[in-house]
Amino acid sequence: KDIKTIGELYKNGTLHAVEQPKYKFRDLYLNQISLLQGDITKLEIDAIVNAAKKSLLGGGGVDGAIHRAAGPELLEECRTLNGCETGDAKITKGYNLPSRHVIHTVGPVYSSSDVSRKADELASCYRKSMQLAADNNLKHIAFPSISTGVYGYPIVDATHIALGEVRKFLDCNSEIKYDRVIFIVFSDKDKSVYEDLIPQYFPSL
Ligand code: ADP
Repeated sequence: KDIKTIGELYKNGTLHAVEQPKYKFRDLYLNQISLLQGDITKLEIDAIVNAAKKSLLGGGGVDGAIHRAAGPELLEECRTLNGCETGDAKITKGYNLPSRHVIHTVGPVYSSSDVSRKADELASCYRKSMQLAADNNLKHIAFPSISTGVYGYPIVDATHIALGEVRKFLDCNSEIKYDRVIFIVFSDKDKSVYEDLIPQYFPSL
């Protein structure tokens, strides 16, 4: 019963999505957290996060989709940024995307031999992206599931890190007023992982 269509959110004026019927969302934590399933490039919000490569010059997966939808001007701006370290984040405009900005963060390539460093790097992606959004006074931010595609991070472990780090950031920075932090997933499997774990980190009040 707490699942609404994004059209209702749209009417509230808090979030805008281009292809509304595709999306479902669920408010879970003080109306601050949403889970969406769909294409991040369709979100008309302040900032979407890109799971980028260190070069920031585009790649496959969500990175490729964002560059395709944003157009060549995004690549031009990215060329001026001199790449990005793993765990760090840089911001650009959104160009032809409905989103006004793109926060490019570089997730770790997973390897089971160095798990704690990988976990720190992945947590850093979420923390730095949240901080960059705050520094730019952006009120909505949408995260894809960083590193869990080609970079091979196990989805359950990555989701614990994503949710834990965002919760920690919100708790430690209560003066920053985000309107909404969105987690957006593609697959049904990823959606069910987020649905299982979100209540641990963002219990409904
Ligand atoms: P990484 O290289 O960091 O692993 P990928 O792009 O390969 O990044 O995958 C990260 C996640 O983004 C995966 O769960 C993938 O299914 C998802 N994804 C791919 N394209 C999109 C998109 N257009 N919108 C939202 N999520 C996407």
